[in-house]
Amino acid sequence: MSNEKRVAVITGGASGIGRETSLIFAGKGDRVIVADYNEAGGKETVALIEKNGGEAAFIQVDVSNYESVEALVEQTVQQYGRIDVMFNNAGIGLPTPVAALDWDTYHRVINVNQHGVAHGIFAASKKMRELGTKGVIINTASVFGFLASPGSFAYHATKGAVIMMSKSAALELAQYDIRVVAVAPGVVDTPIIQGYKDLGMADEMAHKVMGGKLTQPEAVAKTVYLVSLEEAEAINGSVVMADQGYASFK
Ligand code: NAD
Repeated sequence: MSNEKRVAVITGGASGIGRETSLIFAGKGDRVIVADYNEAGGKETVALIEKNGGEAAFIQVDVSNYESVEALVEQTVQQYGRIDVMFNNAGIGLPTPVAALDWDTYHRVINVNQHGVAHGIFAASKKMRELGTKGVIINTASVFGFLASPGSFAYHATKGAVIMMSKSAALELAQYDIRVVAVAPGVVDTPIIQGYKDLGMADEMAHKVMGGKLTQPEAVAKTVYLVSLEEAEAINGSVVMADQGYASFK
């Protein structure tokens, strides 16, 4: 790789895993585009990075809309001249029980978690191929992409799709030196699980995590950073677990 700083686009960068990943990449010297539809949260992430002496900018995006994701990639290249890492991480979790399925909610979850990742893979890889740069596209899956739990029909479907989209895109994009990897967290202590915490289910969830404490978002962020490095070149089309053993035992 050249000595130029890497440029990393991180969707969902306003909160949780995306914010921590933005902080880690910037702390290691990468230029970070914090992308989210939550402008206030995204700008807060940028301010945290700048306070630590890092370089970042906020771009508002709705990942469920392809034109918006394409504009994000375009603006990134206009601003920083390249794109080395695309972290398709924005996601939502809404209840979708099969027996009482609300189609609007179902489509919302699919549009953000599944189509949002497809949009990111497509727009980023198109630009990387145009620029002829090596790149890595990392997608946030979940242990719930292969483990079922009640009430989250659409969420499971999307995370299973993220795993298979990562594998098939990796297979096609390897010839362009573009890697595609899925990272699968278990249960991470971010706002997305607040509903479960409110129901008093946090202890029960932590029970399945080795060490008994919910995974912290910085731990997932560190995994994403490791996967992004050139040293991780053999990790391609893989699902990298960042779950503290959540899926490894009953
Ligand atoms: P979070 O709610 O803290 O962050 C999600 C971010 O995505 C928010 O900043 C939100 O504004 C943004 N976002 C949502 N819809 C968007 C859209 N249409 N366009 C742009 N931005 C949008 O939650 P998190 O836990 O950090 O989630 C990050 C990813 O990790 C998600 O894909 C989630 O499914 C996945 N995940 C989370 C856990 C967990 O237990 N927290 C476990 C496995 C996987």
